[in-house]
Amino acid sequence: MKRQVSLDYSLSAGWLAPWLEGLRVGKAVASLCSACNEAQFPPLRFCPTCRQHSDGWRKLDGHADVLFRTKGTDGDIAMVRFDGANSACIACIEALPIGATRCVLTTSTDEPPIPTLIVEPET
Ligand SMILES: [Zn+2]
Repeated sequence: MKRQVSLDYSLSAGWLAPWLEGLRVGKAVASLCSACNEAQFPPLRFCPTCRQHSDGWRKLDGHADVLFRTKGTDGDIAMVRFDGANSACIACIEALPIGATRCVLTTSTDEPPIPTLIVEPET
């Protein structure tokens, strides 16, 4: 027997509010551990290095390295590491060319917002 269940609920942004607001406007905001000065994107409640509570936020420049990539039904998906962050994150990247290794955060139109990147323009 198969049944479809529909639920309406809302979730508060809570402590992730700075990160989520950053994604909405295309700004990379990482959690910060002031004990060891490491930044995590996506944010973590506890620092994986020294186990202290994350106690601040750091704005990153939004540029990231592409570590791994795949093609999903909704488009290109990649694991990226933002410059200045110690952790990696899964993100959507629009039309990621084969061989592209750099990308930059852009605004997310999804709600809740998700990390969305575009290929970094050639300089
Ligand atoms: Zn730490």
